Amino acid sequence: MAPPDAALTPDSWLANGIVFIVGACIGSFLNVVIARLPAGQSVVRPRSHCACGQPIAWRDNIPLLSWFLLLGRARCCGRPIPVRYPVVEWLTAGLFLACWLVLPPAVAACGWVFLSALVAASFIDGEHLMIPDVLTVGLGVTGFVLSVLVPALHGQQGGSFLLDSLRSGGGAVLGLLVGSGLVFWIAMLADLTLGKDAMGFGDVKFVGAIGAFCGWQGAVFSVFAGAFLGTAWLGLAFAWKSLLRRGAGPVGFGSRIPFGPMLAAAGALYFLFLGDAVGAWFEKVSVLF
Ligand SMILES: [Zn+2]
Repeated sequence: MAPPDAALTPDSWLANGIVFIVGACIGSFLNVVIARLPAGQSVVRPRSHCACGQPIAWRDNIPLLSWFLLLGRARCCGRPIPVRYPVVEWLTAGLFLACWLVLPPAVAACGWVFLSALVAASFIDGEHLMIPDVLTVGLGVTGFVLSVLVPALHGQQGGSFLLDSLRSGGGAVLGLLVGSGLVFWIAMLADLTLGKDAMGFGDVKFVGAIGAFCGWQGAVFSVFAGAFLGTAWLGLAFAWKSLLRRGAGPVGFGSRIPFGPMLAAAGALYFLFLGDAVGAWFEKVSVLF
């Protein structure tokens, strides 16, 4: 990995800026994916158009900026543009830069693919309570292929490429199976004890995909940290609703909430920042058994 101060030279500022802008453009594309994929529409054609049918001019489609310049309203018809558009662009740009700053370049490139899919899956799950297969099964297969090509993704490096590659691919498969298996059994037990499906089968496939990129430790971490984040979020939402005296409303106990964004947030945290610490913790715990 590059020495820490290498991130502060003028050259690297240029590289950092380019990574951020590219991330924003990918975020702009993810907005199209989020809007069209659940509806079964093509993500490449037709060109971006407003809800009123008018095509959107390039100057009104500049990532990071246009929403603010337009004050959140479409130029053609004045329809409000969902705040999701700038949020996804800024978020993706930030995640791209974070990958670039904290990970070796080849692993960062894998991270761009991984985190882009997590962003798209989160926002689709948030709106539709489902995650399309291409972002779960497709992401899992992609994770396996990238693990074989970039063994450093699972910390395998320094040996012969073939051996590193085999170990890394094995790590991806193990992560996929442990992640999917864990969520599958939690879902089964919840189904038996609570009599309702706490997690959908989409979550089973989604955590498998997270495991393909993060290994089994990352998959296990994502499930438990995701559950913690979900509980905290529900608690806050419930408190907020009570505060507004609107009653329990749609966040009442037992309602279906999207778990995908929580799993994704935990997976991203593990991939970017917590991998080493969580790995060391598992090492320590495994001594006890
Ligand atoms: Zn319009």
